Amino acid sequence: MMPPAVVIVGRPNVGKSTLFNRLAGRRAAIVHDTPGVTRDRQETEIQAGDLVFRLIDTAGFDEAETGSLAARMTEQSLVAIGSADVCLLLIDARAGVTAGDDILAEAIRRTGRPVIVAANKSEGRTTDISDALRWGFGEPVPVSAEHGIGISDLFEALAPFVAKAEYEDDGPEGGDATQPLKLAIVGRPNVGKSTLFNALLGEERVLTGPEAGITRDAIAVEFEAAGRAFLLHDTAGMRKRARAAGQPLEQLAVGSGLTAIRFAECVIVVVDATQAFEKQDLAIADLVIREGRAVIFAINKWDCIEDRAGAVTALKEERDRLLPQIAGAPLIVVSARTGEGLSRLLPAVLAADRAWNSRISTAGLNRFLARAVERHPPPAVRGRRIRIRYMTQPKARPPSFALFGTQLNALPESWMRYLANELRSRFDLAGSPIRFSLHNSKNPYAER
Ligand code: GDP
Ligand code: GDP
Repeated sequence: MMPPAVVIVGRPNVGKSTLFNRLAGRRAAIVHDTPGVTRDRQETEIQAGDLVFRLIDTAGFDEAETGSLAARMTEQSLVAIGSADVCLLLIDARAGVTAGDDILAEAIRRTGRPVIVAANKSEGRTTDISDALRWGFGEPVPVSAEHGIGISDLFEALAPFVAKAEYEDDGPEGGDATQPLKLAIVGRPNVGKSTLFNALLGEERVLTGPEAGITRDAIAVEFEAAGRAFLLHDTAGMRKRARAAGQPLEQLAVGSGLTAIRFAECVIVVVDATQAFEKQDLAIADLVIREGRAVIFAINKWDCIEDRAGAVTALKEERDRLLPQIAGAPLIVVSARTGEGLSRLLPAVLAADRAWNSRISTAGLNRFLARAVERHPPPAVRGRRIRIRYMTQPKARPPSFALFGTQLNALPESWMRYLANELRSRFDLAGSPIRFSLHNSKNPYAER
């Protein structure tokens, strides 16, 4: 695979060639003192620490010619920008932000590519460049291409878009479909867990065989459905209880529920449609989430609901309001007794399992992050901006994300929830808990 592309964009004479040569680690070969001297587009491959990328210098903005600067962006430059993994918009810190910079920034924004702004010629006396913040591309990285200052900061800013993720090796993408998916059914007493358990397995299988053998030997039963093998945890002898019709039902102690949750990859939380999302339901769901398992809500006894219009929407609203930490998790209305809706349950489990196993590329994550921050910037803390430089996904099962930047501990809960919800909708993570770790980064790249 080709290394990711970093495309340098900037007005004539801001120092693109000089920076290109500096990043490439070689003496300036072709630098022009005359603005607008045309030259060929340069491209080189750069390796620095664990970064590998193609550096592309766009030429072709000629201020001597007529027409708007944007109109004069050559076809070739626009193509280069459009295919960039990240654009490096270079401005001149001595000249300040000019109308030409504004036009370039706008043209780049329209391509939707992530952007890092660098303010060159920052080695000495500089002009106020705070106007660059209006673009929403974040704070410019001060550099001096000529004097080799700030280059490591620039590499650090580029890292999220060009660094390879260091993944833990815990299975192939989307989980190992050749292994049975471990599933558990939990919920407060009397919501219909045993009935659902038996409905999923098929009555006849459950009712055969000597009683003692069934209930004592196995803690889980295997079955196949929806094109996949499942291993279903038999919590507190659900099969036995289901058969003991008319007997008083034992309580599902949280203890046995916890064993089931820890056994499982995906957990079906059964909720009684006639008394949905009560305190105990929430406590159980919260436990499943804290244990890091995928969650699917089965709203059971749907046959008891007469007024169904708008009921599902209301349930989903309640789910997101009361359990924002798993907003959007699959919610399937079923009747374990009549079988209604049951065919939709296991496909929802498979979707949640896919979400739970998801791995997202670092480049994809950072394109996402740039937009999420642009749309809804984190607040300033004591007048200082919280700066999120980049994010990676160090592990799956459940998806866990590492954020790197400064003052990250000051990120409010509400913003983290926003980020989690954006991640869920952008990368189809519904049903999976999402974990974050915050790293206030030090600079790992040496000056060069
Ligand atoms: P380009 O047209 O954007 O490719 O700009 P060049 O790389 O050709 O540089 C234009 C001029 O700016 C040259 O005279 C460079 O020597 C000068 N220059 C480049 N970088 C710096 C810098 O960091 N500080 C200062 N003071 N001058 C620089
Ligand atoms: P558990 O304690 O969660 O395992 O619940 P059970 O499966 O033992 O069911 C508790 C009661 O609810 C029993 O009387 C079931 O017959 C009844 N029940 C279970 N599922 C349904 C359903 O879908 N609709 C109705 N109306 N009743 C159900």
